Amino acid sequence: MASCELCGEKVSDLTKVKMEGTILKVCDSCTDMGEKVTTRTKKSSKSRKKKKSRIKRTATPADKTLATDYGARVKKAREAKEMTHKELADKLNEKQSRISKIETQNLKPDENLGRKLQKVLDITLYVNSEVSNYNVSNADDRDATLEDVADIKD
Ligand SMILES: [Zn+2]
Repeated sequence: MASCELCGEKVSDLTKVKMEGTILKVCDSCTDMGEKVTTRTKKSSKSRKKKKSRIKRTATPADKTLATDYGARVKKAREAKEMTHKELADKLNEKQSRISKIETQNLKPDENLGRKLQKVLDITLYVNSEVSNYNVSNADDRDATLEDVADIKD
């Protein structure tokens, strides 16, 4: 416990005030009688204005999903380039049968082959999962209550 240098009241917390050129440690009720001395002024004026760092949202491969019409995309691009199955297969170092299976969507290209197809045919096979139909319909149901969702699942 410290006592106020002005009124002598015992308090736990004293405030520094400037009174007639003298710094006094006083209680709360006496602070109004002097000029409050704030030691924090310097610190706060020093605080630099920092530019808000931008949060970059980088799309990772995990966010991408194979387009539902990947076969059509491959076929269309291959035909536009006037390539045969064999020519495309040779370029990709793949079997011709795999290419035709992919075009008929009987085979999903693995990521490695998918990326090669994208490069060679100059197409996009991987789309943002955010724009997939599943998520779009989910967004529409945003107002659905938990009970509603449970009903749908049943
Ligand atoms: Zn006092």
